[in-house]
Amino acid sequence: MARVAIVTGGTRGIGEAISLALKEQGRTVVANYCGNDERAKAFSDRTGIAIAKWDVGDHEACLTGCVKAAQDHGEIDIVVNNAGITRDGTLHRMSWDDWNEVMRVNLGGCFNMAKACFPGMRERKWGRIVNIGSINGQAGQYGQVNYAAAKSGIHGFTKALAQEGAKYGVTVNAIAPGYIDTDMVAAVPEPVLEKIVAKIPVGRLGHAEEIARGVAFLTSDDAEFVTGSTMSINGGQHMY
Ligand code: NDP
Repeated sequence: MARVAIVTGGTRGIGEAISLALKEQGRTVVANYCGNDERAKAFSDRTGIAIAKWDVGDHEACLTGCVKAAQDHGEIDIVVNNAGITRDGTLHRMSWDDWNEVMRVNLGGCFNMAKACFPGMRERKWGRIVNIGSINGQAGQYGQVNYAAAKSGIHGFTKALAQEGAKYGVTVNAIAPGYIDTDMVAAVPEPVLEKIVAKIPVGRLGHAEEIARGVAFLTSDDAEFVTGSTMSINGGQHMY
């Protein structure tokens, strides 16, 4: 039977590419989303991929959403924690709410999804968790103390949980994307983006599919010996 994968924030941007790559690999995919009903429905109609709405920053909603997904599609073997937001601003302008919301969704979401799905993977002795970090969690970024801290936290979370899963056939890895051409990057002002691209040795933004191919490998049987690692996919912008 096909393994079941949940991709958070799986209906657009990098998440959309991940959902499609896992489907192509033969997985049964459930694409989670939070706000954009119309776009999520259009994605589902276009791809045939099931969608499920909940806020990954809400602990109870994650537990309930994952139980329902398992009832509808089968036990969850693969979780890709891709959902993420930005609330940028230099520290002196950043509010407590901006700090908290980014930690709640970006880092709290990983904890909530792992709480919902890791115990079952551990019992069944097979599981794959991939957490989407960021180059800015590795290197820091002006105006992003909240985002950089949350993404950096994801890398620590990944290494700690990898140790807990290792004996049970559950691998936990992270991908740290560089700048990828999605809505999130479209929000960066053009002159800033030009400066960023000038610092990417490969000379361009990345494509969502290039991240998805990394996820497809890390969630495959071939990656059984890969755990606790961070795969940087960033066109050479930061060599960590
Ligand atoms: P987008 O802004 O294009 O998409 C964000 C996705 O996250 C959407 O699917 C959105 O759902 C979902 N989402 C946001 N908040 C929640 C929530 N509370 N609960 C559930 N889903 C939520 O982002 P990208 O595709 O660019 O980024 C995907 C991931 O990759 C993020 O974690 C991001 O931080 C990371 N990343 C991106 C980089 C880039 O250059 N683009 C670089 C490095 C890391 P909905 O459609 O319902 O709003």
